[in-house]
Amino acid sequence: MPFPDLIIRGQQVVLPDAIAPRSIHIREERIVFVGDYRDVIADCEVIDVDNAQVIMPGLVDTHVHVNSPGRTEWEGFNSATRAAAAGGVTTLVDMPLNSIPPTTTLAGFKTKLETARDDCFVDVGFWGGVVPGNTGELAEMLAAGVVGFKCFLVPSGVDEFPHVTEADLRLAMPELTRLGAMLIVHAELPGSIRADGGESEQYANFLASRPRAAENEAVELMIRLSREFDTRVHIVHLSSAQAIPMIREARNAGVKITAETCPHYLHFAAEAIPAGATEFKCCPPIRERANREELWDGLSDGTIDFIVSDHSPCPREMKLRESGDFMRAWGGIASLQLRLPVVWTEARRRGFSLLDLTRWLCAKPAQQVSFERLKGAIAIGHDADLVIWSPDDQFTVSAAALYHRHPITPYEGELLNGVVHQTFLRGRKIYDRGHFSTSPLGHMLLQ
Ligand SMILES: [Zn+2]
Repeated sequence: MPFPDLIIRGQQVVLPDAIAPRSIHIREERIVFVGDYRDVIADCEVIDVDNAQVIMPGLVDTHVHVNSPGRTEWEGFNSATRAAAAGGVTTLVDMPLNSIPPTTTLAGFKTKLETARDDCFVDVGFWGGVVPGNTGELAEMLAAGVVGFKCFLVPSGVDEFPHVTEADLRLAMPELTRLGAMLIVHAELPGSIRADGGESEQYANFLASRPRAAENEAVELMIRLSREFDTRVHIVHLSSAQAIPMIREARNAGVKITAETCPHYLHFAAEAIPAGATEFKCCPPIRERANREELWDGLSDGTIDFIVSDHSPCPREMKLRESGDFMRAWGGIASLQLRLPVVWTEARRRGFSLLDLTRWLCAKPAQQVSFERLKGAIAIGHDADLVIWSPDDQFTVSAAALYHRHPITPYEGELLNGVVHQTFLRGRKIYDRGHFSTSPLGHMLLQ
């Protein structure tokens, strides 16, 4: 057994299949031994965690819009990865759009890497994008290290990342299958989406403009194409619970399809969103309470694989809070820092355990992007990425305590369970109760 540089131990260590008293031995950034709580070594530094605190693998968030370069005024690697560290997230994967250039060409990817390198407080991976006409770029981007590719079936909100049609997908999907790459899909089809839904400051009208049908039809299309081309397809930010049985059935029939949902769909309910409260706007929309409970059922039976933030911030003025116009406001909820307490608050209310939480927030997202040999678990050989937090402590969300660039949040004033104290990235403390490591220690994770 190699001599460790550091031992972190506690009474509640969340292992892949148990919560137990353990000592975690760390050497050269990796976990080299997980022993009994009493297994410490003389002369080695030991961090002893309070009995009421939990040691969990650092969170993995595979759905984050950092928007840099090009829209750094919306967010940026420095601010986003600080918010991540403060939320117990040690690995995030950046989305290919909203940055200029977008990550849809090898050149665009290289520009993004130059921007991100040396400016990240946590480890960062990258999605590429599938847009009309870029099939020829996919192999090179994958070889350069993107984890897979995202496409939109409806306008994305930015001109430089156009959506694809079925005809475009018929060109891209055989290539993705040949490369063994995953296609992640913003699953709403334009056919059922209505441009105007009556008074635009009423949430119900916005909700009616983006009905479940738009999602259901998109999921149906993706199941059909995945079956035809044998491509790995993943549905991002699933909001329509009606699509769950379709996904379950397809998967049982051997279709390579997975799905994620987001904290806001699991916490909020459309009925309670006030008029003009555009901080709640995202696409697909937050739906009714009954739909929310069905999403929880989908998580419970494993049809929905995991929960990621879809952190998508913008400058305050783009939220149009003054007019409260849901139809024209930017759609996106920035919750990178709050995913752990939001999901835990709701999960524990429904009888789920810290093991479920760790599967949804750490292990499964790591698996999605093939990071599971190093990320998402407290196990020998893994990176020593850890979050130390108190599941029983409560706090009230205040935008002023959020570290992303424009801390506008629908969670303002919410009372949540779960306070993050410290975050370790590859054995080094990157966050400690409001303080960050002096320099950004994050690596670029290239596949
Ligand atoms: Zn997104």
